[in-house]
Amino acid sequence: MNTVTVVGASLAGLYAARELRAQGFDGRLVMVGAEPYLPYDRPPLSKSFLTATATTAVTDASTITALDAATPTVTDRATGTAAHPPYASAPEDHLALTDPEEIADLAAEWLLGTRATGLDQRGRAVLLDDGRTVVTDGVVVATGASARRLPGPQPAGVHTLRTLADARALRADLTCGPRRVVVIGGGFIGAETASSCVALGHDVTVVEAAPLPLLPQLGPDMALFCADLHRKGGARLLTGTGVAGLHRMAPASASGVADPGTPRLGPSNRAPSSPSGISDRPDPSDRPDLSGHVTAVELSDGRVLPADVVVVGIGAVPNTSWLSGTSLTVSDGVLCDGGCVTSLAQVVAVGDVARVDGVRAEHWTSATEQPRVAVRNLLAARTVEPVAALPYFWSDQYGSRIQFAGHRLADATVRIAEGSPDDGGFLALYEHAGRVTAALAVDCPRPFMRARRELRVRQATAA
Ligand SMILES: Cc1cc2nc3c(=O)[nH]c(=O)nc-3n(C[C@H](O)[C@H](O)[C@H](O)COP(=O)(O)OP(=O)(O)OC[C@H]3O[C@@H](n4cnc5c(N)ncnc54)[C@H](O)[C@@H]3O)c2cc1C
Repeated sequence: MNTVTVVGASLAGLYAARELRAQGFDGRLVMVGAEPYLPYDRPPLSKSFLTATATTAVTDASTITALDAATPTVTDRATGTAAHPPYASAPEDHLALTDPEEIADLAAEWLLGTRATGLDQRGRAVLLDDGRTVVTDGVVVATGASARRLPGPQPAGVHTLRTLADARALRADLTCGPRRVVVIGGGFIGAETASSCVALGHDVTVVEAAPLPLLPQLGPDMALFCADLHRKGGARLLTGTGVAGLHRMAPASASGVADPGTPRLGPSNRAPSSPSGISDRPDPSDRPDLSGHVTAVELSDGRVLPADVVVVGIGAVPNTSWLSGTSLTVSDGVLCDGGCVTSLAQVVAVGDVARVDGVRAEHWTSATEQPRVAVRNLLAARTVEPVAALPYFWSDQYGSRIQFAGHRLADATVRIAEGSPDDGGFLALYEHAGRVTAALAVDCPRPFMRARRELRVRQATAA
């Protein structure tokens, strides 16, 4: 293989680049990234980034200037010329996933602020939005996911949270004094954002369509515990009701009166998982509607929640539209076998965009563990190894760290193995047919580490 192109220059893409070099690929490595930044970490965006008072930015390809001729190439989209990132002076450095030494070692061509728009039928050429084509022998699809949006135009004050740009915009809105914040969706991003907003002193209401937040992920017992975290933490939690529409300031009067022409939504705040108007491509209707600022959220049961800031946390949509028309199978992610290999042996997929052996995980750890196996299979031109990682994720809410590992089966029972949910930290084990299949801990790191290790061993033995 002479050229490998990694599409998506974020967490999974960076780990794929590292693995390519670590596994001996010494050819041309091209990194294509739609965002104008070198890889940065997303988990802090809903946590410390929102609550931090200091303002700082990750390396931005549009502001780069030549520093040192020995540093690697990053294409400046604005000028089309090669330039070198000023890492030393990059603000928001704490989000950076890499550093100048590693960038030099990787010896990659970084095409940042550049979107892949297509892949030829055989997976041998990646088309870019600036009209260029990268002829390639192998492709790593690492395009992640985009925040799902409410249908229709978004009034000002309505936010999603996926990118640094999103987080900057939300943080700016949260620094204008006490606000009434409504978070739509009680999933992990919604819960963490609500928690951060409470910590900032805002009045926070979380609206969740299901009877409990995080029900599919954690099951009823632990979902109930998480519902209590909101209440104890200082947020209002409204469950079992969807969102009917957003009210916005009437453009002419600016009176704060609900505009009868405001977007109306379906009966649920859960947008459908199929396309139906929701796309991962920028849509003109996604742009803030400058004609009015949000003033309230109307619920499907008729209640109206006054709001200065609305955060929409209703899940993410895998970024696959650029692959339409290819021979790859796309269905809520790029379909891969257990080794991250798609229907084309020279195309592998990793991270949030990949549906590996039927499962698409949106977890930091999956995005970092899959690339080793995917790259091995890519370089071997066939699947020689499946991914054997145990699913793991964590979440920080209201001062508590929640950790989860393993597979929660639908009819599993939950046993508290250490501590107590009523008093400090605890470890809960999910059991099915007499076997532990998953573990959840709240502020109980050591017992959790032990349980996770045991689950790993059990999974390896069963394989
Ligand atoms: C706010 C937030 C908090 C989180 N907190 C946690 C947590 O606490 N614990 C946890 O386990 N996980 C957490 N996650 C999830 C974790 O961050 C993701 O699983 C991880 O970022 C996935 O990495 P990825 O590289 O697959 O995708 P992404 O990080 O989404 O990166 C994909 C990249 O590809 C780019 N791209 C998309 N389309 C194209 C294209 N056509 N051409 C070129 N580039 C393209 C995108 O712009 C993006 O830069 C959080 C996520 C968010 C958003």
